Amino acid sequence: MFSEGFPMRQALTVLAFLLLATPQSALAQPPQVRLWTLDCGAFLATHESDECYLIQHGDRYMLWDLGLGEELAARPAQMVRKYQVALVVSLRQQLAMLSLTPEKIDYVAVSHSHFDHVGQLPAFPHATLLIGKGDWDALPTGRPEIAERFKPWSEGGAPKILVEGDKDVFGDGTVVMFATPGHTPGHHSLLVTLKNAGPVMLSGDLYDTQQQYHDATVLPGNADPAATRASIKRFNEMAASLHAMVVITHDPADMSKMPLFPQPLD
Ligand SMILES: [Zn+2]
Repeated sequence: MFSEGFPMRQALTVLAFLLLATPQSALAQPPQVRLWTLDCGAFLATHESDECYLIQHGDRYMLWDLGLGEELAARPAQMVRKYQVALVVSLRQQLAMLSLTPEKIDYVAVSHSHFDHVGQLPAFPHATLLIGKGDWDALPTGRPEIAERFKPWSEGGAPKILVEGDKDVFGDGTVVMFATPGHTPGHHSLLVTLKNAGPVMLSGDLYDTQQQYHDATVLPGNADPAATRASIKRFNEMAASLHAMVVITHDPADMSKMPLFPQPLD
């Protein structure tokens, strides 16, 4: 009995040794989270930028806002409705500089459904779409050229998550879409918590400039100014309590807060 049991005990001893020898860091290492700022175009008359962001969470990737349409890339400035806009380089081209193809993008998340935030969605027809439910519900009665960008998810059966309230994207609190309605019914901002840089809050279009952020002014053209005022209060209280870095999508000065692409913030 003893001689038969010995190999089993030996095996258990070896197993225990292997478990002890495995660094705890290899077992419980949190996923690496990194954040890149991408150029998604510019508004020439108002000198506003249009930024998109790439977030890496371990081996998964998420885009936050999809900017101006890819068809504008590397062409002279164009008029889109009343706006003179230009796009130098597409998201696909910028991702290629990180050796990423569109197939590697797991999530395409938008702050809201305006044309300067959804333009390059069609380049990622296999990714899971994250959008505020209020904005999704309004697509059929909105501008057809906007609804067109959502076809892979409205008609093609691509996966989507319609966000009501807040959404902890990866389930560990590192990347959270938080509801800031008012600019549009389903508008969201994004909180990304990085190991070294700490909390970073991406405004969406709650604000257009740092000046508006500091003055807490409500932009014209809001769907619901009262809701925006409540969202501004929420955003500002979060930023103060977290001591977060606040990055405004359309303020070109805010691009300088971030490392120059292709360097990430981590
Ligand atoms: Zn915008």
